[in-house]
This record gives sequence, structure tokens and C-alpha cells, in this order.
Amino acid sequence: MTPVPAPQPPGRDPAAPLPAGAASHGQQLKALQSAMRYDPVSAALGAWDSREFRMVDASARELVRPGEQAGVRQFLANLPAQDGVWVLPAFFAQEHQAWYLPLVLTTGSAGPHRAAYFALVSPQRLLGSATSIRLLPEAFVIFATADGTRLFRYQVDTRTIEVSNAPMSAASLEHLRAGGEGYYEAPATTTGQWTHFGYSVSRRVPIGAMVAIPSRVSRLAWLQRSAGEIVMLALACTAVLFFGSRLRTSSASLRQSRQWYRELFTSVDQGLVVVSRKGTILTCNPAAISLLGAASGRELAGRELPRLTRQDHAAGITIGKAHSLLESLQPGQAVLADWQFSRLDAGGAVEVEMRLAPFPSGGADLVSVLLRDVRRERHHLQRQEFLATHDNLTGLLNRYAFQTHLQERTENQPGRPFGIILLDVNRFKDINDTLGHHAGDVVISQLARRTNAAFVNCDSVVARLGGDELAVCLPLDEPTNALDRAAEQWRGTITHAVTVAGVELELSASLGAAAYPLDATSPMNLLRCAEIAMYAAKRQMLPYQRYTETMDHFTPEALALRSDFARAIRDGGLGLAFQPQVGLGDGRLVRVEALARWVHPLKGAIAPGVFVPLAENSELIYPFTEYVMRHALAHAARWRREDHRVPVAVNISAQNLMDVKFVELVGGLLEHYGVAAPDLELEVTESALMRNPQSALRRLRELRALGVRLAIDDFGTGYASLAYLKQLPVHVLKIDKTFTADLASDDDDKRIVRMAISLAHGFGLEVVAEGVETPAVADFLAAEGCDVAQGYLYEKPLGAEEFSRKWLQDTARAPAAAALASREGRG
Ligand code: C2E
Ligand code: CA
Ligand code: CA
Repeated sequence: MTPVPAPQPPGRDPAAPLPAGAASHGQQLKALQSAMRYDPVSAALGAWDSREFRMVDASARELVRPGEQAGVRQFLANLPAQDGVWVLPAFFAQEHQAWYLPLVLTTGSAGPHRAAYFALVSPQRLLGSATSIRLLPEAFVIFATADGTRLFRYQVDTRTIEVSNAPMSAASLEHLRAGGEGYYEAPATTTGQWTHFGYSVSRRVPIGAMVAIPSRVSRLAWLQRSAGEIVMLALACTAVLFFGSRLRTSSASLRQSRQWYRELFTSVDQGLVVVSRKGTILTCNPAAISLLGAASGRELAGRELPRLTRQDHAAGITIGKAHSLLESLQPGQAVLADWQFSRLDAGGAVEVEMRLAPFPSGGADLVSVLLRDVRRERHHLQRQEFLATHDNLTGLLNRYAFQTHLQERTENQPGRPFGIILLDVNRFKDINDTLGHHAGDVVISQLARRTNAAFVNCDSVVARLGGDELAVCLPLDEPTNALDRAAEQWRGTITHAVTVAGVELELSASLGAAAYPLDATSPMNLLRCAEIAMYAAKRQMLPYQRYTETMDHFTPEALALRSDFARAIRDGGLGLAFQPQVGLGDGRLVRVEALARWVHPLKGAIAPGVFVPLAENSELIYPFTEYVMRHALAHAARWRREDHRVPVAVNISAQNLMDVKFVELVGGLLEHYGVAAPDLELEVTESALMRNPQSALRRLRELRALGVRLAIDDFGTGYASLAYLKQLPVHVLKIDKTFTADLASDDDDKRIVRMAISLAHGFGLEVVAEGVETPAVADFLAAEGCDVAQGYLYEKPLGAEEFSRKWLQDTARAPAAAALASREGRG
């Protein structure tokens, strides 16, 4: 910046020095009144020199009634002995019915000229500028000194100020002492509740401001934004103390009041312009010169300040308005206005808050104009707002902002369809654990960039919800498959390798999607639906799932149903149906599949498609599988006693394969019911195997060693690789019923089934076709060499008695002893 010529202080003849010695009452009062004109924050300013006491209020009026001074005198009586800058606990002034926070400067501790200068700040006024603090009723604000003295506490819901002398918590002290800005969590000393604190400690004065909110409310985004405003509050205090320090200077130099005035004028960091009533600029300080884009004070002097207005007729900002503001000012009155000026240099706009105050000066009628650069503050707040709504790493919206977006979308365009897709990186933890968090950050940043690129062309919003979870919200003009297509496209961009520190990482992700208003009408529920779908995809090792109601195990109805189901398991309320599997060559019974049945006392029969997922999504899967196995083995044992050797097939779930006790359980049950191991077959779906292929493989080997037979169920619907299937120690491959349904007519299905049969036989496996409903399908399967068939063509699942009557008493259908023996040889 160019050197600034010392501005001419207004109001006093520079050539006439003040007499030496202590300042007179009148001189001190004048100094206070002048200082008050430039003080944007204080409610009162005062001076005290152990004999005399003077105080002026915000309109520079002297406060003289004893009542007005009582509270102030009280704190002056307890002044610290040393010289320095002090912030004292707030006090309540009865006569004003107002709280004041005193900022004090003491001088002359050693000599007879002990003096104090002080500014009284209204805590409410200080807080009034922080808008977001008022939003959450659970919040409170604390001002304290850096050494832990509480100055005041403001409770938002009751709008009350309190001062307590309870010691601060160790955590709070530690952060105050460390300084700067930040966040931490600690129990509040007043309530004992865990609380989130955002704090800011001023760099120039020993004062810290904290905003706090109970952790249970946990609105971190709010905290971040409010902490931004807290920084501004701490800055405001700094400004007060700055004025205060000017006052202190004045104590030494009231004799040279001119000098002091000049210093105040030049060093205040807000713009100050002194104009005539007509608006002619007489003098201005360096801050005003730079704010208005001038090269020097000379360039501004003599110009008319109103003419620098950047007119905005809509906002009522005009040159004429500036003139009338100046002319209408009453003595002792200050006027605030939001204003815009055009800079002299590049012509850009300056947005300011302008404070106009008239003051008489040796017969002339002058006006001081204080210019506060609101753009800088707004910029700071905007940055805080950005930080509060965006993720630091990727710059994407955060969870809070994403929810707000959904909220606005549903409120502004109710019923207009849109979809959300969530993406969660698979095995992200492994990347962090093996390559470090930096690698994880690189991966997430890459994915965020790719996601932005993938959705750049549509009216969509991308967010990072946390960790390795990204989300997209996109409009759905055509409701049908657009969501699935978008998810597929997104997944495509994610599966390209990412190179981190020279290591090429192959990524995969699980995606879940939900549609508004189809799946849910509230943003929170919609997000929950997409999350459920995403976790369903993860569990099933599928890349993508669209939300369906059957996935939802958390609705009150589903929770009630699950507890009913738990009771049915405990009280023996489940039944079993048995469906025969028949040799395609001779039509004889080969074995029987046990299928669980549940008749709800009020709701009637519940489909396995409903209650099996209930079990699989909770701990119930263990007692459920054990229940089915016990009853199936009990029947097999009974039939054995009746001289029928009927192997039973029981379905097991992925969780059973993860259970280290499972093999022991199976062995124990076989022994308990006296059933030979080869007479029990366990069916595992292909997708269950893929949930955790390595541990599934280990468990299957143990089961095979036990002697039980193993079948892959629903073959063709999962994603198992051929190489993996080849390693599996299984005996049977069951072709899923979706392939057999249209087998007689669909050429694709024919090809798949033909391939599956030859593949299975190539591996030495028996092939069972499920869902055989017509003789044509049975004929095709027989011609292709399929071994066994199961389906309505032969029999529906039957109760144990009916099954026994229809299949075991009939000698033409009952298992042939020879066939049984040959199958055992193969196992
Ligand atoms: P799954 O293991 O594939 O069982 C065969 C399903 O196909 C049975 O349905 C059966 O009734 C049906 N089905 C049999 N023949 C035909 C046919 O010709 N055409 C058609 N369209 N369907 C036929 P269900 O009993 O409703 O069982 C559905 C699924 O529930 C089973 O599929 C199995 O995954 C599961 N499930 C049933 N009981 C149990 C159990 O005890 N434990 C476990 N983990 N899952 C079970
Ligand atoms: Ca099955
Ligand atoms: Ca099946």
C-alpha cells in the first residue's frame, strides 16, 4: 500500500497543544465521546483514575446518575493489581436491566496515577449477530478467558445469561489454552451430558468463545456453522479491546490528545471518513482509502462521498438517498445503512455497513462515516457455510446438505419423481488397513471425480455421505428403468482400476437405489430405503439392488413379525413340507426336500420368501436351521424305523456356513437321531456360497468329511465362477427353476441347461432339475441325461403323513434299494 499522509484530525486546532498534567474532566469526556463514535460494539465506554469516574453510552451521552454507575463501580473496586488487558465476568446492571461484559485496561499500577479504561459490551448484542446460534434450542454459548475464567454463559432456549464460578472442565481448559479454533467432545460441567463444543480463541486478546450442543442432538453441521459465527464474535471483542487500547494510549497522551486522535484515526481497521453535511470528504483513514480503491487520501479529499455510491434503485441505494441521510442526521444520533460504493480503481463494488454520526467541531457541522466491509464478513460466513455443507476431501455435498437437498426437492416439487442411488466401496477397510489412510483418501477422491463426471450432464446432485459411501440424487422423468440404468452406468465408471502409490487397485462397489415417491415419500425414509437396498446388495454379493419392501426388516410390522416368528421357533409352531425328488430314468423316489412352513395364528400362511429373509437377517437363522434339521432328521429316522430309507435334503443359509459350530451341530444331530450321514443332504444356494467364498469352501470341506451330501441350490442365478465351482466338494447341482419353466420352448434356456448338465457331469456331480411342471420338460431333461427331477409334475410339497402315504406305501414309487446303494457308492 502507498504511504498515507497523516490525515488532519477534525475538531481541534492542531497547532494548539493541550496543557501538560492530568487530563481535565472535560478533556477525558471529550476523548470518550470521540472514541465512542468509532466504536461499533460497545454499549458504554468509561475512564477512572482513582478519584474521578466518567462514562458515556452508545450515543456518546454522559452517564451521570449514580444508579447508572453502580454496577460499574462495583467491578472497578475489584480491579486486578497489575497493568494489562482484562476481560471480567459479565455483571447485571439493575438500573439498566442489562448484562454487561467489561473489557478493562489498567495502567499506572506502580504510581499514583492508577487508572482504568473500560468498554462495556452487551452479550446479547454480541450474540444477536450470530443468526444460526438461535436456531437450536438445546445449544448454549460460553465466553471465557484463556485461563478458564467464565465470563458468561448464554442458554439459547431461555435466552438467559448466567455467570458461574464453577471451574471449567479439563478438556475445555486444554483447548482454550491451546488457542486457535476447533471442535471437541466432552461432558458439560453444568449438566454432565456429553456435549460437542466448537471454539475460537482470539489471537490478540485472552478471550475464547465456545458454542456447544449436547451430543445426542448431534448436529455437527450446525455446530460448524455456528462456530464460524463464534469466530466473528471473538473478533468483535478484539475490536472493542482495540478501541480500549486506544483509550489507554490516551491516558498517557491526553496531554497530546491530537496525537492520540491521529493514532485512533489511522490504526482502526474499519474505514473512517469525515465528511461535511453536504458530503464533501474532508479526511479519511487508510482503511477507507483501500476500501474505496483510492491511491491516497488526496485522491479522495474534496470528492463528494454520496457520488461514489453504486446506485441500486431496487435496493433504495441512490446518490439522493445518501444526501438525505446526511442532512437528516440529528445531534447525538447514529444511523446505520447497508450501502454500496464503486471503487475508484477498477470500478468494482464495495458492500459496506455504513454508520453515520454527526458531531459538531468548532462551529462546523461534520459527520463521521464508519465503513464496515460486510463482504469480507460475508465471505467468511460463506466459507463457513461451505465447510458446513461440504466434505473437505472431495468438495462434494455432505450428508447434512444432501438431506437438505432431498427435503427441498420434495417440498418444492411434491410428487415429482426422482431417485437416489447409494454406493459403498467393497473392502474399503482393507485399502485403509494395508496401504494407509492416505491411499483411502486418494481412492475416494478419484471415485468422487468419476462420479461427478458421470452425472455432469443431468440435473443431479452428488454427495459423500461419509467414509466410503457416495450418493447421487437424480430426476426420473421416465420412472421405469432409468434408475437401474444410471446405477449400472455409475458402477461402470467405478470398476476401472485406481492407481495409488504405484499399486493398481481393482475396485468393486455395492449399489442400492430407491425411488421417490414410489418407495418412500419422506427424505429420511427414502435414504433409509436406498441404504437397505445397498446392504441387501452387499449381503448377497450383488453389485446392485433396487429397494423392495421385502428387504425391509425394520418396519414396525416386520419387527412384530420377526418376534412372532421367534416365538414359533421356540414353541414348535413351524411345520415342514416334503417334496419328492424323482429319478428321471425310473420315476422312483430318490430323496425328499424338507421345506419350512409357517402358519401365523392371525395372518395365516406366511410364504418362505417372507420368513426366511426375516431369519437370515437376524440371529434367528441359527435356531431356525436347527429346527428344520431336527424335524427333518426326526422324520427320516421314523421312516427308517418303518423300513423306508429316505434321504432328506435340508436348505441352509450363508450364515450357517460362517458358523464355526455348525459342523459340530450337524454331527451331533445325526448321532442323536441315528441317521447315517449320507442320508442328509444340505442345499446351499450359489449366492450364499459367494458371500464369503473362502470360509464357505472350508466349511463345505468339513461337512463333506463328516459324510453328509452337499448340493448347490438355485444353480445359474448366482455369480460363481466356473473355476470356483470346480473346487467345491459338492455332490449335487440343482438347476434353478427359472431355467426349467420355459425349457420346452426357450432356446436360450435349453442351451444353458444342456451346458449345466454336461458341466456337472464333467465334474462328477449328480444333476437335479427343479420346477419341472410338464411332461415335455421332463422328456427334454431325460434326453439330455439329467439325473433327477423335482416339481409339481411329480408332487407338490406335502405334509409328512400325506407324503408317507402317497410315496412310501406305493411300492412302484418308493426308493429302490439297489438305486440307493449305487448312489451311496458315488458319494
Ligand atoms: P428352494 O430351496 O429352491 O425350494 C424349492 C421351492 O420351489 C419351494 O418353494 C417349492 O415349493 C417350489 N417348487 C417346487 N416345485 C415347483 C414347481 O414345479 N414349480 C414352481 N414354480 N415351484 C416349485 P417354497 O417352499 O416356497 O420355498 C421357497 C424357498 O424358501 C426355497 O427355495 C428355499 O430357498 C427357502 N426355504 C424353504 N424352506 C427353507 C428352510 O428350511 N431353510 C432355508 N434356509 N430356506 C428355506
Ligand atoms: Ca432348496
Ligand atoms: Ca432351489
